[in-house]
Amino acid sequence: TAVVQSYGQRRRKRDIAPSFEPRPIELRTDEIVDGVAGLIGNTPLVRIKSLSDALGVEVLGKAEFLNPGGSVKDRVALRMIEDAERQGLLHPYTGSRIFEGTVGSTGISIATIARARGYEVTIIMPDDVAEEKVKALLALGADIERVRPASIVDKKQFVNMARDRARQFGTEDELNSSPAEQRKHLLPTSSSSVVVTTTAAEALGVDQALLNNQEEEEFRTKPRGFFADQFENRSNHDAHFDGTGPEIWRQTSGRVDAFISGAGTGGTIAGIGRFLKTENEDILVVLSDPEGSGLYNKVKYGVMFDRKEAEGTKRRHQVDTVVEGIGINRLTHNLELALPIIDDAFRITDAEAVSMSRYLVHNDGLFLGSSSACNLVACVKLAKKMGWKDGQRIVTILCDHGSRHYSKFWNDEYLHRAGIPIDIKIVEDLLNAP
Ligand code: PMP
Repeated sequence: TAVVQSYGQRRRKRDIAPSFEPRPIELRTDEIVDGVAGLIGNTPLVRIKSLSDALGVEVLGKAEFLNPGGSVKDRVALRMIEDAERQGLLHPYTGSRIFEGTVGSTGISIATIARARGYEVTIIMPDDVAEEKVKALLALGADIERVRPASIVDKKQFVNMARDRARQFGTEDELNSSPAEQRKHLLPTSSSSVVVTTTAAEALGVDQALLNNQEEEEFRTKPRGFFADQFENRSNHDAHFDGTGPEIWRQTSGRVDAFISGAGTGGTIAGIGRFLKTENEDILVVLSDPEGSGLYNKVKYGVMFDRKEAEGTKRRHQVDTVVEGIGINRLTHNLELALPIIDDAFRITDAEAVSMSRYLVHNDGLFLGSSSACNLVACVKLAKKMGWKDGQRIVTILCDHGSRHYSKFWNDEYLHRAGIPIDIKIVEDLLNAP
């Protein structure tokens, strides 16, 4: 079609002749890692040549799409599951089932790790999520419930449904709405001890103290539901504060001028942003926010946009744009951790994100998802706004791969029907702006 040909025709001569020296393939790690969890994290930081050269600013992307579940969410899923095991909320051998409300990536990450640890998974999601995410979840053996998109105040909203399902799965009065609530019910109340072999506890990574009582033994033998709750669960923030943030610090030897991220739950920007600020409070932490999200206004003016506007244009708290995974219209625990440290925000249009994704394939061979594209548009906007061109460094997150987005963001016909232009020139103009 005309749309597909349009960027083929834009092929330009390179300014610099390519080097024909064979490049050695470097090992990311010389260890043998243990199972799928061993593949999570320690991702490379890639210098994005086209943008860095055009701006005179180093744009570095953390290649999170290389995680085994295909996105940055692997880190969060692993940490939520490990923390829950440590706290005694999940036990592999009792038929525990993990419940989550998610538009996709987190579900895939949870299902990946759950498979390796012997848990069942139920994912509740809106029925307009890109089809490839549904297929991946089915391939990973997750049970899926697709619900009509609804407002967060609606009981039938997907996150609320996941919470309810988890509650119904276990004993009603033992399980409550959040992991924090659930934990309260697990604090040992009797001293009657049962014999639990150290090896079993060790194998599970479960706190021995929690196992040494009757209640716990009862709990252990009953199938349980665990609501992962990525929006409110602090393990989400911790995965980035203890993992991604320190990795970036190490990889850059601390030379970072700004960190840019979108926010879906807020975990990434909160965890990495707070870690970087603890190391060096001068590092700018900047939000990239897609059209229709309330966060931009929250950062700039202290208020989410008004409810009327929200109800008129948005169908759920995950914002209705072609960009999936980031943008939100309510405050979550993880986001609350981030707000005090966010220095600036940029609103990114669908057309800009689409343009960036095509620009990067055309110039760099980088085939990225929609939130990565948003982040990189924000990198360009920040460099221009700050007047940076002397090798300053901006680090951002390349959250997932383009192949997760064939049915919407990487579907030219879909974009056509939605009236979103596919035009590399939009990014070229941003780069050429004074
Ligand atoms: N990009 C993608 C593809 C995602 O799925 C998500 C998570 N919803 C994000 C970015 C945002 O990350 P966070 O939830 O940590 O704000």
